[in-house]
Amino acid sequence: MAGLYINQHVLNNLFYILVGVFAFSFIYDHSAAIRRRLLYSRVLLGACLTLAAVLCMKFPIYIDPACVHDFRQVPFLLGTLYGGSAVGAVLLTMLMLARTILYGFQPLTLIVYAIMLAAAAVVSPLFRRLPRPSKLFTALGLTFLLAVLTTFVAVVIADFQVTKPYIIYFILMPPFVMMFAVYLMETLHEAQLARAELMKMEKMEIVSQLAASISHEIRNPLTVVKGFIQLLQTGPLPRETEERYIRIALEELERAEAIIRDYLTFAKPAPKETEPIDVAIQLQKVLQMIAPMAHMHSVSLSSSLDHGIVIGNVQYFQQCFLNLFKNSIEAMPNGGTLRVTAEHRGTAVVITVSDNGVGMTKEQVRRFGEPYFSTKEKGTGLGAMVAVKIIEQMGGTWNIESAVQKGTTLTITLPASRVKPPTAERSVAG
Ligand code: ADP
Ligand code: MG
Repeated sequence: MAGLYINQHVLNNLFYILVGVFAFSFIYDHSAAIRRRLLYSRVLLGACLTLAAVLCMKFPIYIDPACVHDFRQVPFLLGTLYGGSAVGAVLLTMLMLARTILYGFQPLTLIVYAIMLAAAAVVSPLFRRLPRPSKLFTALGLTFLLAVLTTFVAVVIADFQVTKPYIIYFILMPPFVMMFAVYLMETLHEAQLARAELMKMEKMEIVSQLAASISHEIRNPLTVVKGFIQLLQTGPLPRETEERYIRIALEELERAEAIIRDYLTFAKPAPKETEPIDVAIQLQKVLQMIAPMAHMHSVSLSSSLDHGIVIGNVQYFQQCFLNLFKNSIEAMPNGGTLRVTAEHRGTAVVITVSDNGVGMTKEQVRRFGEPYFSTKEKGTGLGAMVAVKIIEQMGGTWNIESAVQKGTTLTITLPASRVKPPTAERSVAG
C-alpha cells in the first residue's frame, strides 16, 4: 500500500536530501578552517541544505494547482535544528526566492515555512544537546506536528484543500525522511569525531616513541661510564690512564645530560595533558630562563609578543622554544640579537625566532629536525627534532629561512584557539 506512493519522484527527493547531508559532512570533514569556526560551519550547512531544498522544489513529487509537493521541509527543518535561527532564516529566504523564481510567489508558502522556522529555532538549542535516540524521535515528532499545524493554518486562512496525496507526502512521509536524515547526520558526525580522536592518539604516540628512543640514547653513555668506573675499581692504575678514564666518563655524562636537557627539561609526570597556552606568557618565561646563557654569549634579547592562545602541553611548549632559542644563541658565538615575535593572525598564531648567527646551508636546512643531525662538536642533534615534533603534535607547521653568515629565521604557525587559558577562564559563545 505504502509502496504505491514511493515512486521515482519520492526517491529523487530523498536523494537530494542525502546529497545535501553528505556534501556538508564531506566538506566539514576535510576543512580544518571550517571546523574551527562556528560561523563557517553554519554557512556551509545553510548552503548544502539550500541546495537540497531547491533541488527538491525544482524536481518535486507532483504539482497540484494549489501547491507544489516535495520534501523541502526536511532540509529546511534539518538546517534550522542543527544550525539555529540564523541558518533557518537563510534557508527561508533562499527557499522563498527559489519558490518565486520557479513557480511564482505564494504567500501561503511563506506563512507555512515561517511557522516552521519559528518552532524549529526555539527547539534547536535543546535539540543539539539531546542524546542520539532522543534526537531521532524529537525530529520525527516535530516534523509531524509542524506538518499538521501548518496544514491546519492553511485550511483556516486559505481554505486549502487537503487531498490524499497531500496527507501522504506532506504529513506522513516527511517525519520518517527527517528521522533518517538526522540519523545520517549523527552517524557521519560520530565517525568524524572518532577519526579526530584517533589522529590525536597517533600524534601522542609519536611523542611516546620519542621518549623510548631517547631513554635508549641515554643508556649508551651510562654504560660507557659504568665500564670505566669498574676499570678504575680494579686496582691501582697509572695516573695518566686514570685521568683519561675519568675524562671520558665525564664527557659521556655530559652527553647524557645534554640529551636530557634537549628533551626532558620540563618533563613532569602526566605530561600528556593539553590546555590553552598564552604564547606571550610562556615565551616570556622561556626567554627569562635563557637570559643568563644569552648574556654569557653577548647575545641581546628582543621580543614583541601578542597574547595568542594555542592548545598544547605547557611543558612541551616550553621545551620546544627552549631548544630553538638555545640553537639561535649557539649560532651566534660572537654575539648578536635573538629576536622573538608572536602575532595573532586570524585562525593562527605565528611565532618567529630569528638570529643573526652563522646560518645554515641548504643541506643543513633540509636536514633540520632529523634525529642526531648536528654540526656541533658536543651537539646531540635532538633539540631541533624534539622542537619539530612538538610543533607537529600541536597541529602546527614550521618554515626556515637561513643564509650562511647572515642568520636564520624560523617561522612557526600554530592553530589559534578561542578558548581562554585557565587563569582567565571565561566561556566563549558557541
Ligand atoms: P644540536 O644543537 O645539539 O646540534 P639540534 O637538533 O638542536 O642539535 O640542531 C641541529 C643542527 O641544526 C645544529 O647542529 C645546527 O647545525 C643547525 N641549527 C639549528 N638551529 C640553528 C640556527 N639557529 N642557526 C644555525 N644553525 C642551526
Ligand atoms: Mg640544539
